[in-house]
Amino acid sequence: MTRIDAIIKDHQSLSVELWPPRSEEALKKLENSLSRLKELDVDFASITYGAGGTTRDRTHDLVISIKKQQKMTPMAHLTCAYHTKKELTDILRRYQDEGIENILALRGDPPVGKEADFVGGELPYAKDLVLLAKETGNFCVAVAAHPMGHPEQKDEDTEINYLMDKLEVADLVITQLFFSVEKYKAFLDKLAKRGNDKPVLPGIMPIKSMRSLETMARLTNQEVPLQIYEKILALGDDQAAIRSFGVDFATKMASDLLDIGVPGLHFYTMNETLATIEICKNLNYHTQVSS
Ligand SMILES: Cc1cc2nc3c(=O)[nH]c(=O)nc-3n(C[C@H](O)[C@H](O)[C@H](O)COP(=O)(O)OP(=O)(O)OC[C@H]3O[C@@H](n4cnc5c(N)ncnc54)[C@H](O)[C@@H]3O)c2cc1C
Repeated sequence: MTRIDAIIKDHQSLSVELWPPRSEEALKKLENSLSRLKELDVDFASITYGAGGTTRDRTHDLVISIKKQQKMTPMAHLTCAYHTKKELTDILRRYQDEGIENILALRGDPPVGKEADFVGGELPYAKDLVLLAKETGNFCVAVAAHPMGHPEQKDEDTEINYLMDKLEVADLVITQLFFSVEKYKAFLDKLAKRGNDKPVLPGIMPIKSMRSLETMARLTNQEVPLQIYEKILALGDDQAAIRSFGVDFATKMASDLLDIGVPGLHFYTMNETLATIEICKNLNYHTQVSS
């Protein structure tokens, strides 16, 4: 079974986000991470894409390599910002010809510091890319959602309206990382009230350090809850203690999410899979590895 919508219908899934490596050193680190992941039964890996095509070949190559390894199903991220329709069609056709069945259709962001100059591509929004993917091939297409709000859209109802528009044509949702299960639940309730019946996979990022936490909070436009911030501050330079707190916090979040019957868990690994493995082992989640 390789369509992710079918996998999720079959069971609560486990998935990881990976980045295409940009150096030999990064490749070695990724290979180690992938090798460790054998301890878990991971359903799929989503592979990020640099907006404007900065990782075009590297994303493609990692997607194909994951497919060839036959351990997990690959999902290729693709962003429409800065691309022409023809470029996007070519990328999608190539994936279709190579038997890739899952696409995460995104708009993409301008590089940090260039936000004011942002102009979209020929396809301005992610929904336009979903439509193009559906026209081009027989893809299962996922889209992004932002339970804590999108940085460019201050009005929550408007943001949800645009998401519901995307969901008319997409098959499932993966959320931006968040720190509060209550907020995710409230977000699901709002989508359900608008009639959503598509799966919404929660995105979890285990906290590794104060620096990575602050970077992710800034990039995803959310405030770190005070109790998390204070706890990490109190741990000072003790990186091992911060990491351990991050694993415990994410384990509790994942456990609460499983309790409310989420369709699966999606981990933002930043190519370091140890924390994900620990969390899944804590919960005995996807630890029975099928041969
Ligand atoms: C799971 C996940 C994976 C990601 N992976 C990547 C990646 O690999 N590479 C990368 O560059 N980025 C990635 N991102 C970041 C993403 O590109 C940004 O969050 C981006 O700002 C929004 O993308 P979107 O697909 O939600 O865009 P859209 O759905 O197009 O929304 C973008 C903004 O436009 C508004 N909008 C939507 N439709 C309309 C309309 N018709 N008229 C007016 N306004 C509208 C929305 O309210 C929102 O504010 C990822 C995000 C998530 C959650």
